[in-house]
Amino acid sequence: MFKEKGVLFILSGPSGVGKGTVRKKLFEEATDLQYSISMTTRNMRPGEMDGVDYFYKSVEEFESLIEQNQLLEYAKYVDNYYGTPRAYVEETLEKGLDVFLEIEVQGALQVKENFPEGVFIFLFPPSLEELKNRIVSRGTETQELVLNRLKEARKEIEMMDAYDYVVVNDQVEHAVAKVKAIIQSEHLKRERIAKQYKKILEDELL
Ligand code: 5GP
Repeated sequence: MFKEKGVLFILSGPSGVGKGTVRKKLFEEATDLQYSISMTTRNMRPGEMDGVDYFYKSVEEFESLIEQNQLLEYAKYVDNYYGTPRAYVEETLEKGLDVFLEIEVQGALQVKENFPEGVFIFLFPPSLEELKNRIVSRGTETQELVLNRLKEARKEIEMMDAYDYVVVNDQVEHAVAKVKAIIQSEHLKRERIAKQYKKILEDELL
């Protein structure tokens, strides 16, 4: 029986943009996506559970996972390690299920190297959108203020380069709706559908 591999979706973006909130809201709604629970060395926060929010590891355990090449990507973020378990992602995709990662930007770039066919979604801060609008409409702000903010913005805009889609997180509900639309569109891509039919035809002819 022909079974197509699942699609890997990566939600990332600058720190503080609200990736976690968007991801949680997305998974509160009915979805066929499989969330890949990350490993971390940070302390458990109140209300979190091991194996639900993260797999909590000691620094020694985490470093041994790195050595054994068991992480698809990892990064140090605010003095703690965060990483994606390789086996879970690969096995789940192999079963034909879609996998969803919500990770910071250094990790997303590593995933891009290993899984260039992944679908990379950049969550964009609404402050940058506002900045763009102000500049376009030539508002009353001083030149200096705008220039300073533009410098900050440049870094974030450069980060966007590796991504396929950009979603502004102006309101969580809107951002979630856009992420869902991206997932649906990816499944409707011509190559993907043509491949499925070609495979079925080949199997029938054999
Ligand atoms: P928090 O400590 O607030 O749960 O997460 C801090 C940051 O780590 C967030 O930006 C989150 O997206 C990121 N993060 C969570 N899991 C992973 C992971 O497996 N790999 C990477 N690179 N970042 C992660």
